Amino acid sequence: MLEAWVGGFGTGLLWFVFTTGLCNLRCRYCGGGFPPDIVPPWPRYRVEELVELIERVDSRPVVFFYGGEPLLNPGFIREVMDALPHAVFGIQTNAILHNRLGDEYWARFTTVLLSVDGVEGVTDRWRGPGVYSRVVSALRRLQRLRERLGGPATIVARMAVHREISIYRDVMHLLRGLGFDKVHWQLDAVWSPPWRLGAWARESYLPGLRRLARWVAARPRARLHRIVPFHGIVSALYNGGFRWYPCGAGRTAVAVLTDGRIVACPIAVREEWAVLGTLDTWRGRVLPESFVPERCRLCSYYPLCGGRCLYAQVESSYWPGRLLEELDWVTRRTIDIVLEEVVPAVEKAVERGEIDLAYLSYTPELESTEVIP
Ligand code: SF4
Ligand code: SF4
Repeated sequence: MLEAWVGGFGTGLLWFVFTTGLCNLRCRYCGGGFPPDIVPPWPRYRVEELVELIERVDSRPVVFFYGGEPLLNPGFIREVMDALPHAVFGIQTNAILHNRLGDEYWARFTTVLLSVDGVEGVTDRWRGPGVYSRVVSALRRLQRLRERLGGPATIVARMAVHREISIYRDVMHLLRGLGFDKVHWQLDAVWSPPWRLGAWARESYLPGLRRLARWVAARPRARLHRIVPFHGIVSALYNGGFRWYPCGAGRTAVAVLTDGRIVACPIAVREEWAVLGTLDTWRGRVLPESFVPERCRLCSYYPLCGGRCLYAQVESSYWPGRLLEELDWVTRRTIDIVLEEVVPAVEKAVERGEIDLAYLSYTPELESTEVIP
């Protein structure tokens, strides 16, 4: 297997920094946090060791706090932010403990992703009672903060999309009802027990996506960037296509676990193939291209899909092959909907001069998104 390395200084990697392996929720699709023998509850290294590594390999780091629930360890967040004054920062959080971090730190985040699924009943049924209202109170605080201190720049609703989600209703609720800047979502697939994804997608999800796509197509300049999966697919179309997984896992994104291991993907905490090194030993080795399977490299959708998810491709035994084929089918229909409904409207807007190519360029690593749900 050929060795591969990050592109040298100035690469601008996405660093997922685990502040803890613990979580304060037990969401139905997740189960809550990591076992302490796999991901220790608290960092076992000093912040200086992390800073030394980041400064050695990356002059434009993008640092996202992750867990577990990152706000269980606010002191660590403050220390890292104080020690890296020039980094771009973000956080993925369930927002329950947002009061633990002061305004000056929240305002410094370029991107905040708040985990929420949609309307109150669905969010609370899957994430726990009272979660929705806590997210709304965090969102309101951050919106007020932005008016006062200018940040955080972007507040994203990060949804887990499962069989109780009605995609049009829930996305509209988050964007128009609550006023999130953007939504991004991941399908509840592969690491949860198998369910009838294909039938649900045919009856509910894909028709809802088409409705959403038509909503974007009516005013592409104002709306495209608010739906991350659509924006990311259109960006890939206009910028030469994906050449690796859209999330960048293992090449342009790495995760630093609490025990100091550097792994390719923040979910791959047990898998040997994902370990790139440790804080002491990592010199920038990344995963080789052979981690994209042949079935993706030969797939005509690869330029706009990128293989969807490295972890799901390598650990494909979680779901039976039949369900993985259904997942591929859903991915391809999602891309088709964007090509059929959104792209013609975008092309017209480009011709009219309403949209420029810079607007059509989306960099998932800057927001820690995966693009393909
Ligand atoms: S649609 Fe499926 S097979 Fe095709 S590139 Fe995406 S993940 Fe791979
Ligand atoms: S999309 Fe898959 S490979 Fe990428 S970060 Fe998420 S779990 Fe890891």
